[in-house]
Amino acid sequence: MAKQVSIAVVGSGYVGLVAAACFAEMGHRVICVDNDDAKVTMLREGGIPIHEEYLPQLLGKQRQNMVEFTTDLRAATQAAEAIFIAVGTPQSRAGSADLSFVDAVASEIARSIDSYKVIVEKSTVPVYTNEWIRRVIERNGVPKDMFDVTSNPEFLREGTAVVDFLHADRIVIGTATERAAEVLRRIYEPLTSGEYYRSGSAVPGPRGEDDPPPILQTSTKAAEIIKHASNAFLATKISFINIVANICEAAGADVEEVARGMGMDTRIGPKFLRAGIGYGGSCFPKDVAAFRHVAEQVGVEFGLLQEVEKINEEQKLRFFQKVRSALWTFRGKKIGVLGLAFKGGTDDIRESPALDIVQRLLHEGCIVSAYDPAAEQRAKDVIPSSKQMIYVADPYAAAQDADALLILNDWREFAELDFKRLHHTLRYPIIIDGRNMFDPTTMSSLGFTYLSVGRPGSSQPQDPIPTYYLPRQREAAKR
Ligand code: NAD
Repeated sequence: MAKQVSIAVVGSGYVGLVAAACFAEMGHRVICVDNDDAKVTMLREGGIPIHEEYLPQLLGKQRQNMVEFTTDLRAATQAAEAIFIAVGTPQSRAGSADLSFVDAVASEIARSIDSYKVIVEKSTVPVYTNEWIRRVIERNGVPKDMFDVTSNPEFLREGTAVVDFLHADRIVIGTATERAAEVLRRIYEPLTSGEYYRSGSAVPGPRGEDDPPPILQTSTKAAEIIKHASNAFLATKISFINIVANICEAAGADVEEVARGMGMDTRIGPKFLRAGIGYGGSCFPKDVAAFRHVAEQVGVEFGLLQEVEKINEEQKLRFFQKVRSALWTFRGKKIGVLGLAFKGGTDDIRESPALDIVQRLLHEGCIVSAYDPAAEQRAKDVIPSSKQMIYVADPYAAAQDADALLILNDWREFAELDFKRLHHTLRYPIIIDGRNMFDPTTMSSLGFTYLSVGRPGSSQPQDPIPTYYLPRQREAAKR
């Protein structure tokens, strides 16, 4: 039996709350800290502030004994052997990571330390942050032998966060001392030894008793760079396939076939080769910008990342132009929208390309009726409901009398739409799919005008001016 560790997790967001629930599931005692009173009250009363598969089950099971919620960081620090910092590291105006939340937490931990603690960076932070945390704690008068600062970056994806955590590809531990490494190894032992998967009640996933996640022990700096470089690389893969999609579209090839062919090469792999409307979310945009900033700071030119960002911006615009090319004019048209979160499976709308496109449509005078299985509440904080922006309870209500239906994220339930019903519901049977969820041939045989990304027939002719306008324009040109 792996030994229990008492853990404090600071920050009860997508990462902190999932980490807390999973550590408890692995047999540890966890105190989850947040400075948002409303969130802590909600969690104490059995509510869950985010949408994440398996999280309600795990918290339901562990809440009574293994996880508690508090706003008291001091008490949590004193009760814990390891303190994970999982607060936000948003993008600053300059593009770098804003580390003020991490700084505030580090200072408060320093003021509370009363015995040896392992402080773990779980937030995504630039290289050298570990050094800074150490300095902040020392400046607060804590002796060097009372603490270690380690880095344990998190690689989970929203939507599959619990499975990703418990069935990780790898567990990276960046540490300068064996004392801290031993604590972290103990924390993850239920996974790395395979014990968790033998338990019979494990959350199902790709890992198992015979194939547990490996631990990679590195320097703290390497661990920090592994996280930034991994996210920047995945964003690069997405922008790469999006540009390839644009080439396919121009050449009359199918990007899905191309991506399949590329992905079968084990050196490339099939993941993150899905053409669409660009990446979003709370991680890729800010982490690409932060990593570019890190490169600048250390005197390395990383123009590639600038190009990745530019392609991503243009991809949203390109999709928007596709909608325009299908509808000609926008003002007063009703557009059905499926998907508001930055991807399916989550309620997170931070940097969502879907919301970006909805905002452009509203700006052009469209009426939008939108459906998302989980993101409606959060979307309403950004775009309140109005006569122009209508939130509806199912995909068919979104499509009702609409001039076109846009698919902007990839919730599984969108793949199971009843197309006959949809055809009757829409005013015009036009579907513009930003996530390539359907087969173009099937869609056209069902009677839809179907436009998608990087596939033959996936855009209307670029010049949408009807021919009857042309003579008059010619006359005007002569004059
Ligand atoms: P989040 O915004 O969902 O949650 C952060 C939480 O920290 C909030 O609940 C906030 O109230 C709390 N907080 C802020 N300051 C605090 C303080 N001083 N004391 C206590 N609590 C405080 O953020 P998130 O998405 O969970 O991301 C956290 C970190 O993890 C970021 O660095 C992010 O880049 C990284 N990360 C995120 C993901 C993801 O998919 N969301 C994946 C991997 C890594």
